[in-house]
Amino acid sequence: MIFEGLADKLQDTFDKLRGKGKLSEKDVKSALREVKLALLEADVNFKVVKNFISDIEERAVGKEVMDSLTPAQQVIKIVNEELTDLMGGTQSKLSIASDPPTVIMLVGLQGAGKTTTVGKLAKHLHKNGRRPLLVAGDVYRPAAIKQLQVLGERLDQPVFSMGDKQDPVDIAKAGVSHAESNGRDVVIIDTAGRLHIDEELMGELKDIKAAVNPQEILLVVDAMTGQDAVNVAESFDDALGVDGITLTKLDGDARGGAALSIRKVTGRPIKFVGTGEKLDDLEPFHPDRMASRILG
Ligand code: GDP
Repeated sequence: MIFEGLADKLQDTFDKLRGKGKLSEKDVKSALREVKLALLEADVNFKVVKNFISDIEERAVGKEVMDSLTPAQQVIKIVNEELTDLMGGTQSKLSIASDPPTVIMLVGLQGAGKTTTVGKLAKHLHKNGRRPLLVAGDVYRPAAIKQLQVLGERLDQPVFSMGDKQDPVDIAKAGVSHAESNGRDVVIIDTAGRLHIDEELMGELKDIKAAVNPQEILLVVDAMTGQDAVNVAESFDDALGVDGITLTKLDGDARGGAALSIRKVTGRPIKFVGTGEKLDDLEPFHPDRMASRILG
């Protein structure tokens, strides 16, 4: 599970700090050095770590903390607050259109978990009283349309497909019209991915964006790829503009480098995390809960 190594190391560091009673500046600095190493070992972006540590040091090394009755607790509280801030501070929710249907476009590299996430998101939204329509816009990966249809059947939610011979832009537009005339209030569009980012892919995604004007472009990235996921997110955001991120495969990511870097590097919030292959394995992302999970 995510943050295994990091959580162990930070808890060791803070146990030592708690055992000291009164703290000197040297104690705090040496604890922060350990925190820094633990974050780098967890594959967190170097610049992000540097700024994070210096922000904490600025707040933690000072009379107010040192002279308090529980200085170690104060330091841990500051780390908790800064960790929460690192991951976006407060929860970022999906934007929902005031005039339905809300159009959500899922984008990402092949294998990141896009199609699976379309199904998970449909389930999540349906549970919250919405009427989703799943749109099969990935016409290149041979199994993607079938995969989406199977997910739709399992969820008992409609899937809109025009096969694999039509232009994805036309499919997306027709999908939105279909939702409008059938009372579906959220359209979730699955799009094609590639193994690597290329101009053709971005061109197609930009055309779909221009045609259906989505409320939300949700980028799906694989947490297990660490800093590569962060780079992918930067590229997608530069080329297309991204409103939120779903970080998949957190269940297989022991380190957590992407989860801790992606917000600061891209400025885009993590909105959901994928924690398994099943349709229930999608959770709204709460920065404060994640920080508490790391600090135990
Ligand atoms: P796409 O090419 O981006 O549409 O990727 P898929 O949706 O086909 O997913 C690729 C693989 O990742 C599949 O085997 C999924 O079951 C798996 N997958 C997706 N999300 C998660 C997740 O959160 N955890 C785990 N363990 N596997 C996932």
